[in-house]
Amino acid sequence: MRDLVQHIVVVGAGVIGSAIALKAQERGARVTLVDAGAARASDASFGWINASFYLSEDHFRLRSEGLEAYRRLSRDLDLPLTRAGCLSWEFAGEELARVHGELTGLGYPVERVDAARMADLEPALQGAPEEGLLFQTEAVAEPAALVRALGAAALARGARAIRGVAVTGLVMSGDRVSGVDTTAGRIEADMVVVAAGTASEAVLRSAGIALPMLPRPAYILETPPRPRMLNRVLATTGGEVRQRADGVIVMPTSAAHQRDDAAALEDAPGEAADAALARLQEVLPQAGRDWAQVRLAHRPMPADGLPVIGAAAPGVYAATMHSGLTLAAITGELAAQEICEGPSNTSTAMLAQFRPQRFA
Ligand SMILES: Cc1cc2nc3c(=O)[nH]c(=O)nc-3n(C[C@H](O)[C@H](O)[C@H](O)COP(=O)(O)OP(=O)(O)OC[C@H]3O[C@@H](n4cnc5c(N)ncnc54)[C@H](O)[C@@H]3O)c2cc1C
Repeated sequence: MRDLVQHIVVVGAGVIGSAIALKAQERGARVTLVDAGAARASDASFGWINASFYLSEDHFRLRSEGLEAYRRLSRDLDLPLTRAGCLSWEFAGEELARVHGELTGLGYPVERVDAARMADLEPALQGAPEEGLLFQTEAVAEPAALVRALGAAALARGARAIRGVAVTGLVMSGDRVSGVDTTAGRIEADMVVVAAGTASEAVLRSAGIALPMLPRPAYILETPPRPRMLNRVLATTGGEVRQRADGVIVMPTSAAHQRDDAAALEDAPGEAADAALARLQEVLPQAGRDWAQVRLAHRPMPADGLPVIGAAAPGVYAATMHSGLTLAAITGELAAQEICEGPSNTSTAMLAQFRPQRFA
């Protein structure tokens, strides 16, 4: 007799695959995570969880629900996440007023703050502009620790993980995906979830499914530990920056990195880090000019910049996106529900713009 419990193979144990594995296991599936041990975007992420950046109203709603989903997840798990908020002056003048108006219209908690309030909120700032935006509800996760916490919770609930093994292709039985071939043999599955970050395109292509992705490399720097000087994420005109609990300052080297659409990095890592810290000097001199580490990582960016979440063909579900830290908790909830029980009105409404079929 066929096992009534669905066996789900999740390809990729980054933040997205781990969140889906956890939620699918909680819904009663039997989950196997398969991970190649390749470099992960999740480990290099800046870790900012926000909905103040978005590309469409549906994208805003999904990101906004992403913040709520972390609240729900935090009730069950001790997550490495703080709700420190963000102070932004990426925009000025009319542009700032427009962004404030749009976000207020969407019901997002945003406050216009003057220079005195900004100095109050972040006393280490020097030479900050006259006005900024305060996003009190935004959060920060320590990305690598978050992936570990999600993976450990999935395993504690009965999921299994196979690590150091790469999926080489999807297995077809008739017109249905029925498992994966790996560097260590075949694994059969009722459903395969492709959450392999930048490698999702190649894994899906093995079954003739198109998920075009853009090259979006990025550097992210870390300083040596510094005395405490920042209370929240700062989105400055020179870049986004935050300080970890251990004092280390973290900063993607490109300014406005969420909007960064460069297909190649022009500077060498050291030059890019020097330039980013020089820009930071203008507002946060205490940060210093020394960096301890620069990491190159690749953002998993579908060709239109929007997330891909949904059934891609019979037996296979795709979940690949940039802003995956922001979207992991909500993706875990919605994808697990669709995989285990089928789409609901809520998931259909929330994910309509993000289905993989738009690239077919
Ligand atoms: C510098 C930088 C800063 C960022 N900052 C933010 C931010 O502040 N906020 C935010 O929301 N997002 C941010 N992002 C984006 C975010 O980090 C990613 O969207 C997210 O980490 C993607 O997670 P993932 O699980 O899809 O992919 P990954 O973390 O890349 O994980 C993919 C996994 O798949 C595995 N894998 C790959 N190929 C195979 C295979 N063939 N078989 C088996 N396993 C395989 C890999 O080993 C890996 O573990 C940032 C990204 C970068 C690079």
